[in-house]
Amino acid sequence: MDFDNTSDTELSELGEFGLIKHLTQYVELNQSSTIKGVGDDAAVINNGDLETVITTDMLIEGVHFDLTYVPLKHLGYKSVIVNLSDIYAMNAEPRQIVVSIAISNRFKLGALEELYQGMLLACKKHNVDLVGGDTTSSISGLVINITAIGAAKKENIVYRNGAKEGNLLCVSGDLGGAYMGLQILEREKAVFKENPNLQPDLEGKDYILERQLKPEARQDIINLFKKINVQPTSMIDVSDGLSSETLHICSQSKVGIDLYEEKIPIDPLTFNTALEFNLDPTLCALSGGEDYELLFTIDINDYEKVKNIREFTVIGHITNESKGYNMIAKAGTVHELKAQGWNALNK
Ligand code: ADP
Ligand code: MG
Repeated sequence: MDFDNTSDTELSELGEFGLIKHLTQYVELNQSSTIKGVGDDAAVINNGDLETVITTDMLIEGVHFDLTYVPLKHLGYKSVIVNLSDIYAMNAEPRQIVVSIAISNRFKLGALEELYQGMLLACKKHNVDLVGGDTTSSISGLVINITAIGAAKKENIVYRNGAKEGNLLCVSGDLGGAYMGLQILEREKAVFKENPNLQPDLEGKDYILERQLKPEARQDIINLFKKINVQPTSMIDVSDGLSSETLHICSQSKVGIDLYEEKIPIDPLTFNTALEFNLDPTLCALSGGEDYELLFTIDINDYEKVKNIREFTVIGHITNESKGYNMIAKAGTVHELKAQGWNALNK
């Protein structure tokens, strides 16, 4: 079996996940050391006593970042963090990264130094070694591809597919902030384009700007799991928004979900800024993305261990697959949870 190479299907018809599924449908795993291939936050490879965890992410100028308002040092930091987040989402510890960049001669040495300062700061903070990469030229924008390698004991690795009926769905931190930070930056960019003499108005928005420009990967949560002796049954990091990640856990675990809108943790600044932009704060949390929090399920018997932990919020419970994917809105109405929550929530 193989592709017939004649399909002229538009990529937009498949979407990102449909495309990945299509392209990887004939992938064969023949190495006995390959424990997990495509489909989780990271691949898992048996390596003797420990298992190796590997993930990669590419950031493209004009698609993932805009250098008119993103300082290169922050970009370097974030490009490492987004990879480490996927390692933590496996309940593993990152150890090394390799960094590949494509650059144009529009960059001066100082600019690339800043990029690397940011990367090395993230490495230092997470105790990760930068061990290699590749450097090439680009005729358009800057491209950064980072691969992170981590390790964990076999029994500690947490996959997306382990959620069971009756489990509780929990999330760390709060959601929607990174998206609202981006809205502020885009607004000020538009104002600046109109009138370059105006200074950007970022006052009082520090928290959400930081969520967008300098996100953190939740190493502390992985440590906390060890400390309180909780092994999540499934886990994913929140890079694409709460609804999309919840659906990944549910579809891979073959379970349903009841998620409660009123439980979704949203910081007051995120909430108020969303209203300022005439956006529904819940929708920003469901569909915004880039928060890099951890979304996980736990056995109900572990509830006592997590209930007083400020960093965790229980937002739903796992149901039978036949019950489907539901969000119970604040008004008590039930809505189907969709990867793009925007339509489902229009009341
Ligand atoms: P994440 O958001 O956690 O980084 P992605 O949504 O990017 O994960 O990817 C989902 C899964 O698909 C991962 O297991 C990833 O390794 C795999 N994947 C993504 N793109 C490709 C590709 N072009 N070829 C093979 N596997 C891919
Ligand atoms: Mg991920």
